[in-house]
Amino acid sequence: MDNIVIFGAPGSGKGTYSAALVDRFGYDHISTGDVLRAEIKAGTELGKIADGYIKKGQLIPDDLIIDMLASVYDTMRDGPGVIFDGFPRTIVQAKALKEMLHKRGEKISVTLNLIVSEDVLMERLLKRAEIEGRADDNETTIKKRFNVYYTQTHPLIEWFKKEGVLSEFTFKGDKDLMIKEIIEKVESI
Ligand code: ATP
Ligand code: MG
Repeated sequence: MDNIVIFGAPGSGKGTYSAALVDRFGYDHISTGDVLRAEIKAGTELGKIADGYIKKGQLIPDDLIIDMLASVYDTMRDGPGVIFDGFPRTIVQAKALKEMLHKRGEKISVTLNLIVSEDVLMERLLKRAEIEGRADDNETTIKKRFNVYYTQTHPLIEWFKKEGVLSEFTFKGDKDLMIKEIIEKVESI
């Protein structure tokens, strides 16, 4: 099966491009952010813990997110593939993903790194705040999330490169073009 990692800063369009890939290839989609927000809504133990971190724009501890991810992944093994959206976000998570896949005879097929300028990201997130009302989409928390992204998540790009799975896509103002480029890449794996 295909194991696709979609990677990028907050607001880079991971959810949007994942939806296009689900449409085209019938993949299952794991968005760790969506799973955590569902847990919060359902008032579970994990949700209660996650809520505090998300509101502050911080990452949930690695061990919690890794366990959650493995159990969701195991429900998707019969399909054509899985898109990992919002995971991994730290080197520890990346190594855990590699190991989790390896144990199951699988590996990362490709990582799609979405490159978008910071002013476009901020504009999108503020617009989304008005529509979706997410607790972490306000200017102060967005800035913290950017900071967390650059310090904890961005270094993963080098890791993906070393693993030989990195593929980069720069947003040039045209979403459909970006979708076309991403689909072409995934067709080639
Ligand atoms: P977007 O979805 O627009 O790209 P985003 O990447 O900031 O924006 P989500 O992926 O939905 O948003 O994540 C929201 C929050 O959930 C994060 O700020 C973090 O607190 C938590 N979270 C999500 N995925 C992880 C993860 N892999 N490790 C730790 N925390 C996570
Ligand atoms: Mg998202």
